[in-house]
Amino acid sequence: MSFPLTKSHFLAGLQCPKRLWLAVCKPEYACPNSPTRQGEQAEKQKFRAIAQRSFQGIAVSGDLRSALEQTQRLLEQRQPCLFEAAFIFDDIFLRAHILQLRRDQSWRLLEAKPTAEIREEYLADLALQSYVLNGAGIQVAEMGLILSAPRIGAERAPETLRLRATDVTRSVQIWQNQIPDYLSQFRQFLTQPEPPPAPMGSHCDYPHLCPFKTHCQGDGTNLVVNNSADFSSSLPEAITSDGPRR
Ligand code: SF4
Repeated sequence: MSFPLTKSHFLAGLQCPKRLWLAVCKPEYACPNSPTRQGEQAEKQKFRAIAQRSFQGIAVSGDLRSALEQTQRLLEQRQPCLFEAAFIFDDIFLRAHILQLRRDQSWRLLEAKPTAEIREEYLADLALQSYVLNGAGIQVAEMGLILSAPRIGAERAPETLRLRATDVTRSVQIWQNQIPDYLSQFRQFLTQPEPPPAPMGSHCDYPHLCPFKTHCQGDGTNLVVNNSADFSSSLPEAITSDGPRR
């Protein structure tokens, strides 16, 4: 049986298999978003909008069906730049933040993140997107991150934002080879009537605060302290890690 998955599910599964299981099977156990989390999401949306303004593109909107239809139409018109284009492949629906047509008619996939440093989860995110886009018939030849550039000098006004684009195509390719295995593992977890065992540890707070912490603290999993399941342990073998990257 194949489970429809989203990008959020995939990233939750990388953080902790139990988090993925709870998100799909028991979403009602999640804590409501804290004001801090809401603030982070607002900042992320603001940053994405600012990054988009640097490009001349057409935004795709609407629900799943309408977004898929609009995307298809814009692709057929060979529009040179799309925002939030919608794709579905292998029962995974996602939106690509910025998709730019290259001179050779292949595509550049860009994702904006409001941090100054590259994180492994960003590479995994792009790898999943390229898996879906390639499966949907879009040839993604190049992938990049749009990050916030560190401020230069104390005199720079706090509201001033500079962006920098980084080509991460080669780093993402390392992740790409692992995507089918991760998906099959995650779908296997989701056929189980109970969540996979996952002791609590540092992975409950990184790369994102898990919304199921209160639930896990109440079911006894906090009695076992073991950080071996942290995000770094789910990295492909080719990527070395010296622990969580904050
Ligand atoms: S609180 Fe920790 S152990 Fe529980 S689901 Fe979240 S990440 Fe996994």
